[in-house]
Amino acid sequence: MLANKTALVTGSTSGIGLGIAKSLARQGANIVLNGFGDVEGPKAEIAALGVKVAYHGADMSKAGDIEDMMGFAAAQFGQVDILVNNAGIQHVARIESFPIDRWDAIIAINLSSAFHATRLALPSMQARNWGRIINVASVHGLVGSAEKSAYVAAKHGVIGLTKVTALENATTGVTCNAICPGWVLTPLVQKQVDAKAAALGISNEDAKKQLLGEKEPSMQFTTPEELGELAVFFCSPAGANVRGVAWNMDGGWVAQ
Ligand code: NAD
Repeated sequence: MLANKTALVTGSTSGIGLGIAKSLARQGANIVLNGFGDVEGPKAEIAALGVKVAYHGADMSKAGDIEDMMGFAAAQFGQVDILVNNAGIQHVARIESFPIDRWDAIIAINLSSAFHATRLALPSMQARNWGRIINVASVHGLVGSAEKSAYVAAKHGVIGLTKVTALENATTGVTCNAICPGWVLTPLVQKQVDAKAAALGISNEDAKKQLLGEKEPSMQFTTPEELGELAVFFCSPAGANVRGVAWNMDGGWVAQ
């Protein structure tokens, strides 16, 4: 379905971004990976799906790096048809003790990076009258949780940006939507599981159950594979008039 399309997924060396990149690759899209840590492993996983893969190590907190990455993607594959704004970090602390540098980093990586990548991707999508921008927000773009001020503020901002991007392109073949996962057991959440296990002196398995029990009625983690298939739907012909939605895959978190 996505042969000859190019998808750039930010923060795709791990977790949800890698899951989405693999789902898009299974549909035939060439992939531009981005993110830190192991690069060769994710590159090999994508190449094994029979598509072309490239990598750019832009630090998503830096507008200049993002410009470089968008130029690199166009040079490698001609254009970016599908942009998935996924890179994100977390920090957990009450507002009165929230480190200022963590606030700035979360706003830059989780929110401003999506603005920069979107503004740079739009002109060529508009020129070809086809594009998909998918913002990985969170249930925390829809509701709050204590001790996550920067993250919740950034994710609410991402959903606002999603709506405006969708509206500005509503008469065109360019759509923009957000995906709002509940708990997904990636390194980002494993840190929170480990912190809970240590704080309460309980096992890792019990900490996972507690984490789910507080918020997610299904008592199941959402998986990167499930989120990847939602991204595929947004890219499919049936998704052509889905515009500006924030679609949760959250085991009932926000239904409560
Ligand atoms: P993860 O830690 O597994 O992956 C994050 C990715 O972002 C990695 O590839 C990392 O290298 C990259 N990254 C981090 N800082 C970066 C930077 N400055 N520049 C470039 N890349 C950077 O986390 P994840 O859970 O897969 O999170 C992916 C997205 O999903 C995030 O936006 C997160 O907020 C969101 N999300 C996660 C959950 C969850 O439960 N895990 C739930 C809702 C939303």
